[in-house]
Parts: sequence; structure tokens; C-alpha cells
Amino acid sequence: MSATSDNTSGKSSGWIKSTCAYCGVGCGIEARPKTNGQLEIRGDHEHPANFGRLCSKGLALGETVIPDGRLLHPKIGGVRTDWNTALDHVAKSFEDVIKEHGPEAVAFYVSGQLLTEDYYVANKLMKGFIGSGNIDTNSRLCMSSTVAGHKRAFGSDTVPGCYSDLEQADMVVITGSNMAWCHPVLFQRLKAAKQQRPELKIVVIDPRATDTCAIADLHLPVKPGTDVALFNGLLSHLATSQKVDESYVRQHTEGFNQALMCAMEDGSDPATLARTLEVEQQDLKTFFDWYARTDKVVTLFSQGVNQSTSGADKVNSIINCHLATGRIGKPGSGPFSLTGQPNAMGGREVGGLANTLAAHMELDNEHHHGLVSEFWKTDSLTTKSGLKAIDLFDAIEDGRIKAVWIMATNPVVSLPDADKIQRALRNCPLVVVSDCIADTDTTRCADVLLPAQGWSEKSGTVTNSERRISRQRRLLPTPGEGKPDWWIMSEVAKRMGFGHAFDYLHEGDVFNEYVRMTGLDNSMVAGKTQRDLDLTGLADMSHRDYAGMAPQQWPLVQMDRKIEHKRLFADGRFFTPSGKAQFVAVRHRQPASRLSSDYPLSLNSGRIRDQWHTMTRTGLSARLGAHLPEPYVSVHPADAEVFGLTHGKVAALSNEWGYARIRVDVSERVNPGQLFMPIHWTGVMASAGRVCTLVSPDTDAISGQPEFKFTPVAIGPWEYQSEALLLSPGVIDTSDLDYWVRQKVAGGYLYRIASSETPKQLEARLKPHCLGLTASQGKQLDFASPSKGQFRFAVIDGIELKGCYLVAPNLQEQDLDWVQNLLHEPVNEMVQRSILTGIAEGKLARGKTVCACKQVGRNTIEQAIREGDLESVSQISECTGAGTGCGSCVPELQEILDESLAYSL
Ligand code: SF4
Repeated sequence: MSATSDNTSGKSSGWIKSTCAYCGVGCGIEARPKTNGQLEIRGDHEHPANFGRLCSKGLALGETVIPDGRLLHPKIGGVRTDWNTALDHVAKSFEDVIKEHGPEAVAFYVSGQLLTEDYYVANKLMKGFIGSGNIDTNSRLCMSSTVAGHKRAFGSDTVPGCYSDLEQADMVVITGSNMAWCHPVLFQRLKAAKQQRPELKIVVIDPRATDTCAIADLHLPVKPGTDVALFNGLLSHLATSQKVDESYVRQHTEGFNQALMCAMEDGSDPATLARTLEVEQQDLKTFFDWYARTDKVVTLFSQGVNQSTSGADKVNSIINCHLATGRIGKPGSGPFSLTGQPNAMGGREVGGLANTLAAHMELDNEHHHGLVSEFWKTDSLTTKSGLKAIDLFDAIEDGRIKAVWIMATNPVVSLPDADKIQRALRNCPLVVVSDCIADTDTTRCADVLLPAQGWSEKSGTVTNSERRISRQRRLLPTPGEGKPDWWIMSEVAKRMGFGHAFDYLHEGDVFNEYVRMTGLDNSMVAGKTQRDLDLTGLADMSHRDYAGMAPQQWPLVQMDRKIEHKRLFADGRFFTPSGKAQFVAVRHRQPASRLSSDYPLSLNSGRIRDQWHTMTRTGLSARLGAHLPEPYVSVHPADAEVFGLTHGKVAALSNEWGYARIRVDVSERVNPGQLFMPIHWTGVMASAGRVCTLVSPDTDAISGQPEFKFTPVAIGPWEYQSEALLLSPGVIDTSDLDYWVRQKVAGGYLYRIASSETPKQLEARLKPHCLGLTASQGKQLDFASPSKGQFRFAVIDGIELKGCYLVAPNLQEQDLDWVQNLLHEPVNEMVQRSILTGIAEGKLARGKTVCACKQVGRNTIEQAIREGDLESVSQISECTGAGTGCGSCVPELQEILDESLAYSL
């Protein structure tokens, strides 16, 4: 039977089904092109990941397909060229390096943003034909500890469960994940389950009190890096309270006694354990008791577990508890890793990591090596693993790697010790970058730029966190000369003499080859294939079937039209040589870096609700930019006092690797001694907002994953004399500004500026810029109070604001959120008065954006609560519309309501 949807092109009434570009939930969307070149977006009610729901990022996808900043043509040395010249140049340069220095002198650094077809071709070219393992992916930064943990326990990189397990569980443990912001739609599914069944217990384990805690029955704010001790404590508790499923352990596992012995050393004494974790002993007991007595438990984990120098051990400590209780492969039970990127899983399937082969076959397995060599018809297949991301960039820095091709990722922002990455690329003889965006911190280091298709132009497949493969479909024509990544690589491969193996005419040909590869010597033995990943049920698909393919969860030995929720390991058989799952004996270890008197605080990092990765796409949406427009560091009030920090002012952070200057957010959501900073801001978007300049390059010895969640830093105030907001229709030259952040707003950009100069000196810098924005007949609004350091200036053409600025010694105490909307407001008298006085009037006075979907501000919400005596979030939603879009702002609405009610008491 065909695996297609009813309509074979995935289309109905002009709506085209595709998949969201962002997180690993992998939500299905439906898109319809609009006459202005943008897209209408809605959730796909038939997609089993989201059943129609979308979060704020998914809903804003249509706003991010604008042509602003696209890389349109190939370039060599910054000069436009044609595709033939660029491809010849890349192929010849790689060949020259390989001829002179061998295949280990070249590398690819790829991305979980690539489609599976792209990933497959990249891996095949590097490992199979160039003959080096030097291809690694930015998924190394988010998922490799899980891959290592899965392989150690199961003998395969298998996520055992599916999303519906969250709804069927009686207890969900969320550890190292701010799901409410990072996997919002899955969080909404869990929240709905909790509303339906309040008895469903939810425990959040996180050093920070995040929005995810809004649905928690218990929050354990453990000390960063202590997860192994916690789960070892749990394993000890299960053993001492006789909750181990002895029959399951005996029949289906190995290594229990050794794992338990280690666990007891870490966690048999509750008082000591509570001190190690820095949590209340009673809370610990509650968690252990709930876990012990609940049969159906899902443990969700993500970057807080993976991004650690003991990440793989943390994963295994979680899996150990599930194996000990036999809670795996059953409805509502299992360890469940949440993948960060939309196609982190697809990359893992086709060998995007330096230490895997393809189709879940292994580099160090001779039999697999033979199968793949024969299948690809190559004698060059590498026999050894390549360099993992951090080691790979070290090799670029020290000159062992002389040519690197970076695809769809921005390592100058996202890799630890980011300034070193920038230096390494600047010194590398050949840096090729394929991207759809022209100006990123990484494209600035490129010798060759290749324009790739963007999300809305690409066609292929992605795999989400529950092993579900979905089609990403072409929605819009490609601007300029952008090409599919698989095509670009195939063309280079042909020019390197490998044409016979890269003669693809269509992305469906690549997919079909990958599907057939999963069947290599993978026949059924006693009702089970020898490897977990089997897609052979899709092998007979035509291009037409591929075009209309409905979401499919693997393994897929046979095709079925109905939506399935498949679990693995229900039979208690695993992919280890013995067929039994392996307990892994692990001990708690401190993070690699230590706090010191020079660097006394630990810096944590993570995502925010409305941005994605390095903001190259979400940064294009004015709506998404409004929620948290400036990079910030969250600091506990006690630390703020000790280190002289004031909420809203600028802090300077530093350590041996780098520095940052960002706004201070004094908040009790972080514990004393800890800081939090978002990952998103780049050197293109801010003067010094890249968290990774500070992050240590220490990695997990097993997985190679860096420790993004614990970096010792120093912090102190950065003193400045003046601040400004500047609105401009275009990008401005910021080279002479001390501190600035760029935010996309409707009609242009808003710059948030702070300066060590006086207000008068700063205004003297900004005025020429504004004056240059219009013809001489434009009207000027000019207010100056030099004694108070207040300057406000605007240039108006008819009813159109061309640009403006507000300068003052301190702008943080004023409500100025309204300024970001001015470029597309008709400039009436009210607007002019607001600019001249610096005080919003009328509808401008809605306050800081809380609901990005419906554009509802804080002042509007507070006013509605006050005037309408509102007592619930649903009343706020009814009255203001806030929270009726994606629902991601509901925890914030609850917070505002709580504060307002407390204030009115
Ligand atoms: Fe996209 Fe949001 Fe769904 Fe993630 S949860 S796939 S970001 S819509």
C-alpha cells in the first residue's frame, strides 16, 4: 500500500502540507502563498505531532520568508560569480588539499537544519568517497550525549517511546528541559493531559524556575551538574524499597549489580544526597516515593542533561532507573529524549556524526563496512571515526585541516570558545559556506559563499523526536540562484570524479537510496530486524508517492496508511550482542571547570520562547522580536547586590575565554551563585551578546558534547553615561558605538544603544544618521534639554516617519516599547507629541509585548485586570485576546495576574 496522503502532492485548496523549520517536536504545518510573497500558516490538524497546534515561532513562519538578507548568488572572495565557476573552484580546491595533505586535511561541518537527503549526500561524499570521517554536525552540541547513552544501553541509537506516551503516563519527569519555551507544542499536549487528569504527576528538575514549572506538582531546583547523583539516588531508593522489577532485570538486562553498587555510593544516604543536590530532603523523598509507586512513568530529558561533561552518564543514569523498573517499551513509560533541531534525528539516521556510518551502521563494524562499501560501490570508505566538532575546529586552528565546508550553521556563534572558532576560520586556507543568509558571523569568515535554498524552498524529509519522518515541501520559488544542498554537494562530487555515485536527478532519488540502505542485511530474525532503523516499507515509493508521503514513524518494515504510535523494546529485546539492555555503572562527577575567586558564578545558557538558534530567521519577524528584544543575564537579587548590579542596566561578564555586555535581569528564577544567558544573539545583532564567547570548550569524553550549562564567570556593572533608542528603515554602521543591539521591527530596525559618552556626545553621533534618512524637505521634530541630557529627534516625510532617536542618561525607567511600532504608524499629532515628550499616548501606550501572536502588551493586560476585576487567565484571554494564539504566553499571563491580584490586596 502507498504511504501517501489522500492528495498526492500534499495540497488541498491551495494549502500545502509541510513541517515547521524549528524544534524537534516536528509540527506539521499548512502553508498558502500570499500575493505579497509571504505565506499564510496554520497548524496541520492531521499531523500526529501537533494535531493542528503551533507555537509562536511556528505561527510566525510566514513572516520569516521575506527576501531581506538572502544570499542570492555564489561568491568567491566576496565577488559574485556563476555556479559553474564556484563549483569548479570548490572541487579543485578540495582535490588539491587532499592530493597534497591527504583526506584528513579536509572537513564538513553540517547541521540539524539540513534535510535528511542533504545529510545523506554529505555523509556519503565525505566518508564514502573523500575517505575521511571528518564530517560532524551541530547536533554534536545538542544530542550526542543521548546518542552515546542510547548506544551503551540499547546497542542502538533508539528513542523507545512516542509522544502519546506523555498523555498515557501517570507521572512525567521533565529534567534539563524548559519545554514550555523549547518544545512548546509538546508542552501544550502535556498540559492538556494534566488538565484532563489532574492526578497525572509532573516533576520538573531544573536549576532554574522556568515557565515549565507552571504545570509541575514538584520542582527540584538541583545544583547544576548533579543529575547523575539524583538518578543514582533514585536507583538506590528503588532497590531499598524493593521496587526493582527483578524478573525484567533478570530476563532482559545485564549489569544491574554493578550499576546499583555505584548508585549506592552516590545516593544511598538521603541527607548527604540532598546536600549534594542542594534541595530539600523532603522534596527528594517525595520525588522518589512518587517514582517508586507509579507504574507508568516517562522521563523527558533534553539539553540540560546532554550539554555536560558527564552528559552520556546522565543519560544512562536516567535509563538505568527505567530498566530497573521495566518501564520501557510500554504505553506511558520510558526514557524520552527531546531533540533540539528539526532534523537532528534525520542526521543521526544517515551518519551526520563523525563517529557513525549510515543507516545506524557502525564504522568499527567490519561487516557493516563491507555492506556500505558494496552498496555505495566505493573502495574509499573510511574505516575510522572523524573529528568531533570541538576537535575538528581545533584541527582547523592548528592547521591540520586546511579546507572546511560549513553548511546551514553558524559555528562562530554557536560553538564554545567562539572567538577561537572565528580566529580558526580566519586562518584556514579555504572556508566554504553554504547558507541562505548572506551576512552571518560565519559567512563573514568565508572564502566561498554558496547560496542554498531556504526552508520554504527546500523539498525533502525530516525526522522528529518520536522517529516520525515528515515531508518538508517546496512552498515558494527560490530567490536568486539558491540551490538545494544535496544538489550543490552532488555537483562538487561529480567534479571530483565521483559522478557515478552522485547522479541524482531528484531529492526522491536520494531518499530512495537511503531507504534501501536501511534494508542491507537487516532481515527479520524471530520477528525482529537486526537493526532498529528499517524503512524498507517505503522502498517501492514512486516520486509521486514521495511527493505526497504522509508522516511515517519508523521502523517501517511494512507500510500502513493509519497513524501509528510505535514503541520499541516492548518485547524486552535490544540491539546489543546478547539482546539484553545494559545497565551502565555511573558515578556523579563535578563539571570540568571549577568556580574560583576570579570566576565565582556559574553561567547557564539556553533558548528563549520566541527565538531560534542564531536568529537568522526568527530575527526577521518583528512580532517575535518584541517579546525579549535584548540579550540579558538573569541574576539572583542577592548576587545583584554583592556584585553591584541593577535591573535594566548593563553587566559585563568575563572569563578566560571571552566577555559579554548585556542587560541585567534581576530575578529569583535563578538560584544564588548562578546566572542564565540566552544563546541567540550574534555579532551581527549585538555588540557583545554572544554567550559562546564565554562557554568553555570542555567536552564529555564519551560523546564529545560541550558543557554549555556550567561555565565559571565574573560579573560586574558596565558603567555608561547615556542611552538611546534609534529607529531606522535600514541597517546602520555601529562600528563607533560601545553597546548596541539590533531588533527587526515593522518597516526597519530598532537599535538599543548605551554609551560611555555623554548624552550630548551620543546625540551628536546619531543626528547625522537620522538627517541622512530623507530628502531636505522632510519635516524635523527636535527636542533638546542639554541640562537633563534629554534629546529627541525625528524626521518625517508627509505622514511617514523616516527615522528617529531618543537619547537620555537612562531610558530603562521609561516605558518605551511603543517606539518599535512607529515606522509603520501614520505620524499624526498624537505620535508627534509622544516622540517629543517621550511618553506614549493613546493606543501607543499598550506596554511591553506579552502575547506575540495577538500583539497584546502588558499595560493592556494590567488595565483589563484592573478595570474588569479579572480573576483568571481565561478571562484575560477573552477580554484582550492574549493567549488565544499559540498559548506560549499563558504562564506569563498567570504571572501578571498573580502580581496584579497581590498588588490589589
Ligand atoms: Fe515549530 Fe513550535 Fe512545533 Fe517546535 S513546537 S516544531 S517550534 S511549531
